Order: sequence, then C-alpha cells, then structure tokens
Amino acid sequence: MARIVMKFGGTSMAGIERIRSVAARVKREVAAGNQVAVVVSAMAGETDRLVGFCREASALYDPKEYDVVVSAGEQITSGLLAIALQAAGVPARSWLGWQLAIATSDAHASARIENIDMAALEASLAAGEVAVIPGFQGVDAEGRVTTLGRGGSDTSAVAMAAAMKADRCDIYTDVDGVYTTDPRIVPRARKLKKVTYEEMLELASVGAKVLQTRSVGLAMKEGVRVQVLSSFTGEDAPMADTLPGTMIVGEEEIDDMESQLITGIAHDKNEAKITLIAVPDKPGAVAAIFAPLAAANINVDMIIQNIAHAARSTDVTFTVPAADLARSIEVLNQARGEIGFAELVHDTRVAKISVVGVGMRSHAGVASTMFSTLGERGINIQAISTSEIKVSVLIEEDYTELAVRVLHTAYGLDAEDAA
Ligand code: ADP
Ligand code: ASP
Ligand code: MG
Repeated sequence: MARIVMKFGGTSMAGIERIRSVAARVKREVAAGNQVAVVVSAMAGETDRLVGFCREASALYDPKEYDVVVSAGEQITSGLLAIALQAAGVPARSWLGWQLAIATSDAHASARIENIDMAALEASLAAGEVAVIPGFQGVDAEGRVTTLGRGGSDTSAVAMAAAMKADRCDIYTDVDGVYTTDPRIVPRARKLKKVTYEEMLELASVGAKVLQTRSVGLAMKEGVRVQVLSSFTGEDAPMADTLPGTMIVGEEEIDDMESQLITGIAHDKNEAKITLIAVPDKPGAVAAIFAPLAAANINVDMIIQNIAHAARSTDVTFTVPAADLARSIEVLNQARGEIGFAELVHDTRVAKISVVGVGMRSHAGVASTMFSTLGERGINIQAISTSEIKVSVLIEEDYTELAVRVLHTAYGLDAEDAA
C-alpha cells in the first residue's frame, strides 16, 4: 500500500463530466490498494470570476473578505468531488481548510502554511475514506479564512503530502509533464522525464506556471516526491506509479547532468519597467530608491544602474510586478525629494525571457549564445540578470514568442534534436 496525494487543477475540475472522470481516476488508485488524499482547485476561470467580484465591489477591498470570497471556488469543487466519489461507490468526504485545520500565517491573499493538524484526517484515511481537500485555502490564528496566492493549490498538495508522509504527490494538469518550455507556445517543446528541484524552482519563479513556485520550494525542503502528469488520458492510461509524467527530483537522481546544458526556457509578461532619470550619483542614492519600495512590500526584480554622466548623475532602471506598477510610481513620487530624480518613465510592454539549467555551472557561453541569438533576430535587450543556473533578459513584449522559439532551437532543445 502506498500513500498518495492526487492534486487536480482547474481545467481538470471544470464541470461535472470532468469531475466524474477525476473520481474514476481516484477510484483506480484506491482499487490498487492506496490510501489517497485529493487536493482540488476551483473550476477553471472561477477564481478569476470571484476576484472580479471583489474588485467590482470596491477597488480597496479588505483582503480578509477577499479570501472569504475567492476560497469559495475550491469549497464547491471539493464537495462535488466527494459526491462524485460516493456515487462511484468510493467512501469519501471533504475537509475544508478550517476543519482539518490547515493553519497559516495571517498574510491574507498570500498566506503561508504553518501546520496541518493530521489527527482527524489520519483516522478517516485509516477507516478507508478518501479525503477531499480544497486547495488554496487555510485558516489563521484568529480563525479567519486565508488563501495562499494564485496557483496555491499546488502548495496545498505538497504540504499535505509532507504532513501525510506520502510516497508521492501527483499533480494532475492539462499537459502530460514539464516541458523544455511552454508547449502551448513552442509545439516542438520536449517533455522532460526528470527535472531537479532547483531547476524547477528557478523555472517556476521566472514564469513557468505549471507549478506554483512555493510548492517547489516546499517540496525541496521536505523531500516530497512530486510528479506532474495529465488528467486528460483515458481509462487505459498507465497508472501513476509507473511514472508516466515528469518527476521533480534531487540532483543525485539525474545521471547525465553534465551533458544537459539548458533544461528549460520560460517567459513572464507580468513585469513592468521603471527608469528614474538623472538620479544624483552619490552614496545612499540607490538605497533611497529601493528602501521605500521594500517598505511598501514591492518586489524589485532586475536592476541596472548606468555609469555616471559628467553631471554626476545616473539613470536607474528596474522591474516590478506589473500589478504593483501604480503603487510603485506613487511610492517613488512621494520619495522624490529624497531620491532627487529628474523624471520617471515606465513601460509595461516588456517581457522577461529566462534560460535555466544546472549545466550552466560548468559551461561558459550560455549568456553569449542568448545575446547573439536574440541580436540576430533584431531583438533588443533592455536589461539582464543572472544567477548560478539562470540568465534572464528583458525584451519588448511583442517579441516574446519569437524569442522563446529561437532560443529553444539555439540551445538544441527542439524535439527533433532529441537524442
Ligand atoms: P492547473 O490548472 O492544472 O494548475 P496551470 O494552468 O496552472 O494548470 O498549469 C499548466 C499550464 O502550464 C500548461 O497548460 C502550460 O500551458 C503551462 N506551462 C508553462 N510552462 C510550462 C512548461 N515548461 N511545461 C509544461 N507546461 C507549462
Ligand atoms: N484556484 C486558485 C487559482 O486559480 C488556486 C489554484 O488553482 O491553484 O489561483
Ligand atoms: Mg496551476
């Protein structure tokens, strides 16, 4: 007997027919003798709809009430799946975040899971019941409902797998694994059998939304075995324990690591670029810019400071999440006296393209291939940032798809090139 967590995303739960098919898949795992906890997302599009209601009700909504509203999508699908399982003859019940309880911090809309009380759930599993748990939601110390940030059901699933000491956490979605890049953009993207935690963490954080970044960090910390696989396969599809999808693993499980230079390419259109023109070139100037942004909880990503002009002033360019652009401008204008810039310009028509791979540690030339490939296509690079296993560039948004495609070919990732 194995203990497994099965997580189903929004498209997998979109409508009663899909939910019935999920129930059939869960039933197969139960019939194979496994103990199963299922974590579900809201139906595709539902969370967006609920967020829209909050915004419509008031631009300055209370995040505590926002969480009450947006967590409702998962409450519905967890109940519906429990009903579908029961109808299929599988004993099952739903456990809402506050019933288990899944204790989180009080950072509404982006809460962190602190503890999962397993006592009641263990008893239920031992009695042969399938536990259906709404993803994305928890409860804070005051008993108020919280949510974990968009895409957070992945994190709920991994946290549940860690708490259950599950043998595997299977993340069922609408693609059959993690690819070298988003297969909806590059049809020649190749499915990966394995990806390291570190690479997946980096890929997720630079825009590969197949897994929420936090879920990968948590899996890495807790050593949870995560598989990404498709829920859109027939009854005769291979069982999940034959590992048909992509496994997220430790580096020691990858044999030919040295030969694999680039693992994947991701893009992110959700950043905005800000340039402060003519900032005085003196100690403390940069701190005067970024301290107020940090105080406002705004995450700055790429930063470029140009060399000083003769007039002893410099331009500073950086990116922030597009959703925080208006607030960033407000914060910077308030601090204008302190910072002393002449002008602020901004641009939301930018995209960040990133190449990721652990092979980069031992091979030079990854960045220069990126720059020359983009240069040959006339794509201008507006900013650059790097880490040990990643190079990112900021380009004009209209070139996103082209850039991802030409880089995919340049690094030999196209399916035809597969060994
Ligand atoms: P779910 O609703 O199941 O959580 P998501 O939409 O959050 O599904 O994530 C799955 C999507 O992630 C895919 O449909 C695909 O378009 C996208 N995606 C982006 N990058 C990748 C990648 N490298 N490999 C696979 N899918 C990716
Ligand atoms: N339903 C939530 C969202 O759309 C959480 C999730 O699906 O992971 O962000
Ligand atoms: Mg998702």
